[in-house]
Amino acid sequence: SEVYLNGKWVKPDEAFVSVFDRAFMFGDGIYEVTPFYNGKAFKLKEHLKRLQYCLNEIQVAIDAFSLEKLMYEAIDRTGLNKADAAVYIQVSRGVAARSHFVPEKIETTVLLYAFPVTLEGFEKKTWEVIATEDKRWHRCDIKSTALLANVMANEEAIAAGFAENLLVRKGYFTEGSHSSLFFVKYGVVHTHPEGHKILSGITRAEVIDICTDLNIKVVEKAVHIDELVEVEEIFVTGTTTQIIPISSITHKDKKVYTAQKDSLTKKIQEVFIKKSRG
Ligand code: PMP
Repeated sequence: SEVYLNGKWVKPDEAFVSVFDRAFMFGDGIYEVTPFYNGKAFKLKEHLKRLQYCLNEIQVAIDAFSLEKLMYEAIDRTGLNKADAAVYIQVSRGVAARSHFVPEKIETTVLLYAFPVTLEGFEKKTWEVIATEDKRWHRCDIKSTALLANVMANEEAIAAGFAENLLVRKGYFTEGSHSSLFFVKYGVVHTHPEGHKILSGITRAEVIDICTDLNIKVVEKAVHIDELVEVEEIFVTGTTTQIIPISSITHKDKKVYTAQKDSLTKKIQEVFIKKSRG
């Protein structure tokens, strides 16, 4: 049995929750995805810290770090000790009669499982993307299971034959529908500051560390869509995305950006591979 659900390990096709689970009814839940390179967790503490932050923000009293052992157990039970994998964790506020009001006596639904994922070869990819209005809520720092706006944005890209959708709020790029976003302008790396408008990406933080080590200047400042003429390189980052260069951006059916170089992205990718694969 490979799926952990509320204190028990069950088979994937026997893992069920109630239709009255609040994550199903309201999207009243949060999640976390942690990568395992060759069976070894990468940035585990950072992922658990973010999970704890989200739990605290939605006021669910669970110790995120108590799940660490279960994560390794999920990898073991799935036979992924020597493979690239990820562990998905989801915490829902629990099961109750459908009402916005949360009853005092409610037990959280905790789901956790490991799945194989291709983390190798990302450095050979480039993505052509679109840019559209960021229609998400104002607490994108909470890794909520309510991903309707993200899914709609991603589907818009896929339907038009693109790999990702870069989101723009009041003219400024925030992040991708499922990735963090970086720009290189005059040799300086730019990324949206942390706060309520983006998810605090773990890969994003790692890339900032790598830039510091490489003596590449980083400014946490949003880039305006009109600044694209000055941008030399763009790349997106994420746990499953890793680091992928953007070759072009299409906005309202017009190509508004074509990559000029990829040299800085390549340097960062090289160090990232070394660090993530130990
Ligand atoms: N932003 C969004 C909206 C995401 O869904 C993700 C995760 N796929 C990221 C950024 C990247 O975060 P991380 O590096 O922690 O996976």
